[in-house]
Amino acid sequence: MPTEESKVGKEGLTTRNPAGGLAGIPNELSTPIAPGTARAVLSVSVPRETVAGEQRVALVPELVPKLIQAGLEVHVQAGAGAAAGFPDSAYQAQGARVEADRFGHADIVLRVRPPSLEEIASLKEGAVLIGFLEPYTNGPGIQALAARKATAFALELMPRITRAQAMDAISAMSTVAGYKAVLLAAIRLTKFFPLLMTAAGTVSPARVLVIGAGVAGLQAIATAHRLGAVVEAYDTRPAVKEQVESLGATFVELALETQDAEAKTGYAKAQSEEFYQRQRQQLLPYVAAADAVIPTALVPGRRAPLLITEEMVRSMRPGSVIVDLAAEQGGNCELAEPGQEVERHGVLIIAPLNLPSTVPFHASQMYARTVTNFLLHLVKEGRVNLDLGDELTRGPLVVHQGEIVSAVVNAALATKV
Ligand code: NAD
Repeated sequence: MPTEESKVGKEGLTTRNPAGGLAGIPNELSTPIAPGTARAVLSVSVPRETVAGEQRVALVPELVPKLIQAGLEVHVQAGAGAAAGFPDSAYQAQGARVEADRFGHADIVLRVRPPSLEEIASLKEGAVLIGFLEPYTNGPGIQALAARKATAFALELMPRITRAQAMDAISAMSTVAGYKAVLLAAIRLTKFFPLLMTAAGTVSPARVLVIGAGVAGLQAIATAHRLGAVVEAYDTRPAVKEQVESLGATFVELALETQDAEAKTGYAKAQSEEFYQRQRQQLLPYVAAADAVIPTALVPGRRAPLLITEEMVRSMRPGSVIVDLAAEQGGNCELAEPGQEVERHGVLIIAPLNLPSTVPFHASQMYARTVTNFLLHLVKEGRVNLDLGDELTRGPLVVHQGEIVSAVVNAALATKV
């Protein structure tokens, strides 16, 4: 007995649910195609990004042939890749059509940042949208996508499992951010990073402290180490110690109970305020000794933990730098002002937003690879095939058939009402 139902929609979208369906998701599309109806080729569109300052693009020319081979047409809005260093002609050379505006005609839209409410209103009804949709905070956008009956995937919700690694856009962008944060620190620090032995005497290397050694933190460690700094790092997840040491850094040992600090998902668990207070006390001498501090500590779905107080900033030498990579989630440093650079007690505190966009060529290439891998995971014989029993499909699915179907997103949006 088959245990799954399947229907093909007029946009070539097939939904397969496990028997009985999944909570909140209807088992059938509302507009099944009549048997024998000729199928149009699905079009994938890459519109220009419209969030201010965004320089990345969701698809790079080298990946166009992969989508065409999968039975899709590729349309790129004129100028979409220009800021990232990909001219229209490069897309055309790979078989894409470059057009003035394709948003409203596309069956599948690839984006980096969430579309505006106006763009969503112009989306073709039932279109598939893939990108960073800021699902925990972008309530109006998510609701507008549901009203448009879009099928929307938020790449922030891709499960952290081995099978999903090639589709993990967040990790790809964290790599870019970790690298660029160190370069910012190196440029703004009043010192060299490396040890120098010159005719003018010996210059001692800079000391860099990385707090939080996940994807961004590990890349920051590797980059600072390559530039010749002496690097120390701390993370609440004990499993990270070996990775830190393998990159040439010293793992900072704090007298804190961290055996239970890692969730099954691989992310850090939130700790008690008392824990953070003890952590701050114990981190103080390491922060005071550092020339550059790069905090990257995050706990999913929460404000970033406060790990560097004003007192700790005051303990640093004048001319030191903090690059707060947790700025988008409120910052790890008490004095960080997201999106700003401020000088406090002689210390420069940089709290950048969207660092990946400042390395737009490679950030776009890496992002586009994850998006393409995900899209090709969904497409079978030129159709979008939604196997809702597959966690790679189900995890990032936020909106489907007019409903917000992600439990975590519904919970987050409910708390904001
Ligand atoms: P993240 O961006 O959520 O957090 C950054 C780091 O901050 C994490 O290492 C976390 O442990 C750390 N942190 C949280 N609170 C802290 C505190 N109080 N003090 C110090 N550090 C603190 O995490 P991430 O970098 O996206 O990923 C974390 C881990 O998830 C990775 O190291 C990896 O093991 C796993 N992962 C798996 C996959 C996969 O299998 N597809 C993909 C990405 C990441």
